[in-house]
Amino acid sequence: MAVETVFSKIIRREANADILYQDELVTAFRDIRPRAPVHILLVPNQLIPTVNDVEPHHEAALGRLFSVARKLAAEHGIADKGYRLIMNCNAHGGQEVYHIHLHLVGGRALGPMLS
Ligand code: C5P
Repeated sequence: MAVETVFSKIIRREANADILYQDELVTAFRDIRPRAPVHILLVPNQLIPTVNDVEPHHEAALGRLFSVARKLAAEHGIADKGYRLIMNCNAHGGQEVYHIHLHLVGGRALGPMLS
């Protein structure tokens, strides 16, 4: 049984967040601890704890994460210079919140990925 996180509360607007985009499948909001000038989290509205829990019926929401990331990157002026999309999985992947989320990070040169 999946355990809800604060992200479910943000999606339902029961917890504070700077929501930049929401539709029937996904929500995007600013990370409260930004590691770059642009740091946005994109989450499926339905709780999927980790990438290990992804099923074929999640594909529409997961695909939507990328099209919304593309739109937000353009809106924030980071599309041309570039940005990074990250999804962490479990402890060794550095996952802290067990509701999968795509980090959209940009606005500065990020350096090698695994540094
Ligand atoms: O990928 P990971 O699980 O480590 O990332 C979780 C992210 O969620 C962190 O960057 C953290 O700052 C962010 N967060 C947030 N709002 C919360 C709780 C966590 O933006 N209320």
